[in-house]
Amino acid sequence: MAGRFQLKTPIAKRLVILIISASTLFALLSVAIQLAFNYMGAVRHAESWVDDYNRANLATIERAVWQSDQQLLEKLLRGLVQQQYVAAVELNSIGGVDVQLGQQVAKQKSYLYPLNWHGVVLGELRIGLDLSLIKQDITAQALVILFTNGLKTFLMSLIILLLVGYLVTGDLRLLADTADQIFTEQQELVPLPSRLLQRSDEIGLVASSMQQLQQRLQVGLDARMKAEQALQQYHQELEESVQQRTEELNWQTDANQLLSEISLAFLNQKPNNTKALLQRASSAIASLFPVELVAVLEFERQQAVYRDVWALPGQQNPFESIDLSPLGQLKRRMVNVAPIVVRDVAKLRRIAPNEYALLKKMKINSFIGVPLSDGRKSFGLLACASLKSCVTMDEHQVILLSQFAAAVSGLLISEKNHIAMARLQNELLQVNERLQVLAETDELTGLVNRRPFKRELSRAVTGARRRKSQFAVMMADIDFFKAYNDHYGHVQGDQALKQVAQALSKVVQRSDDCVARVGGEEFAILLSDANKQELPLMAQRIVDEVAALQIEHLGSNIAKVLTISLGAVLVEPDDVLEPAKLLEMADACLYQAKNQGRNRAVFDLDS
Ligand code: GH3
Ligand code: MG
Ligand code: MG
Repeated sequence: MAGRFQLKTPIAKRLVILIISASTLFALLSVAIQLAFNYMGAVRHAESWVDDYNRANLATIERAVWQSDQQLLEKLLRGLVQQQYVAAVELNSIGGVDVQLGQQVAKQKSYLYPLNWHGVVLGELRIGLDLSLIKQDITAQALVILFTNGLKTFLMSLIILLLVGYLVTGDLRLLADTADQIFTEQQELVPLPSRLLQRSDEIGLVASSMQQLQQRLQVGLDARMKAEQALQQYHQELEESVQQRTEELNWQTDANQLLSEISLAFLNQKPNNTKALLQRASSAIASLFPVELVAVLEFERQQAVYRDVWALPGQQNPFESIDLSPLGQLKRRMVNVAPIVVRDVAKLRRIAPNEYALLKKMKINSFIGVPLSDGRKSFGLLACASLKSCVTMDEHQVILLSQFAAAVSGLLISEKNHIAMARLQNELLQVNERLQVLAETDELTGLVNRRPFKRELSRAVTGARRRKSQFAVMMADIDFFKAYNDHYGHVQGDQALKQVAQALSKVVQRSDDCVARVGGEEFAILLSDANKQELPLMAQRIVDEVAALQIEHLGSNIAKVLTISLGAVLVEPDDVLEPAKLLEMADACLYQAKNQGRNRAVFDLDS
């Protein structure tokens, strides 16, 4: 029975109440009608009996009155008064014979009979019928009728109760219990008891209708469930597609962000930073695309050289360069400068067998390569590969990869430009250096000339000041060299110049010292560390070293060999003197040496 429903008025109870009420009403009505008829019948019966009696005895009564036979009269009238329902008999005669029998009652119906004897009025006979007595009898009858009717009604109700219980309510409860099971736990059909279905009355009709209703509901429910499932699936698909689109958009945003960061970093690149930037680009690509290997390859003649490789931990890095000569298909595609997408490497087996063999050897299953180009031709390849699965990339992803490739191309081009610029700059520097060396070197002797000597001299001045040390400046000049040239010729003169230069260099050997050819046959010498004791010795040693060359000089007025004269100045750290001034001072000493007879050294130790 349904949980919430409370059976307050069972059918049987209502039927019994109805039956009892109706039968009681009918019983009361019929009893009332019957009693009314009985009452009227009883009254009529009593009247007709009184009439019959009077008809039979009235002549006798009139004669007795006539004869004043009191005794007979009383006898006759007593018989009358003893009759049922006769309450009182009263006879009044003119002749003075009066008889009064019985008692007058409240509810009484009186009948008056005039008494005559042969046309003479004798008096009158009054008979009173007791209506309350009739009513008593009728009431007694009514009680009996009511009792029997009540008993009949009770028995009828009992029978009806049993019959309703057996035929109706039991099956109705069964019907209700069955209905309560429909669509509860299981969604299956609940079979109605065959006993109910086999009935040919209204309960059978309800049971069969319920069965059909259940079937219709089942069909409806199935359709609704299917519709709900379809709706749910649609919702799920919609949710999935929204999620997928969101993921794609997020991916696109992240990818663009990374691309712009990397492009910016590429733009602000510093020389020698290319490797780190390439690594950054490779790992960014690896983080965005479902690949296990990202490589930047640069073509050098028939070789593809790895510039950078990003590989998943545990993956082998293919660092060896690739020989491009057998890869005709790849080279052909490179000319187009268009992305190469090979979702399944196995498909290359027939159309590009060499490329297939190479990728297979590298255990690559999927390959996407975007040429690196300078706008005219490809010079490398940005390669992404998957070793495990066949990678699918949509159009946006390929475009993005191409943008990464463009950024990498830009980076490599600017690196190339940078290298070319650096090389050019280097070459220029070297040329400049060579030119400077040439400009500052005396071709004949290999010694430096006046300009670098003056520079060294300036450096020596500041160095000496810093170190608080002394240094010396010397000027040397070959004696009677004009005469030598005149005598031995210019070529030999040059030879002599070279020998003198070598002799000077031999004596002046310290790294900070310097020997220069500052004029035709004039030499300047810088001794970065000197003092009063050593300088005269050193100057004499130089003069002696030249004489020791033993170069024959028949044109000399002072010796048979080539000699030099030398002037030397010792410079104190506190002396504030220009290089030109120092040279002048040394030249003055040289002049003295010439004047004093040549082949000697003159020094100024207190400048
Ligand atoms: P003094 O002893 O007074 O120095 O006499 P000098 O003859 O050496 O001096 P002078 O200045 O009169 O002559 C210098 C000569 O040096 C003139 C020139 O012929 C010679 N001379 C200068 N430069 C070169 C050179 O490069 N090669 C050769 N072979 N001779 C040179
Ligand atoms: Mg000279
Ligand atoms: Mg000279």
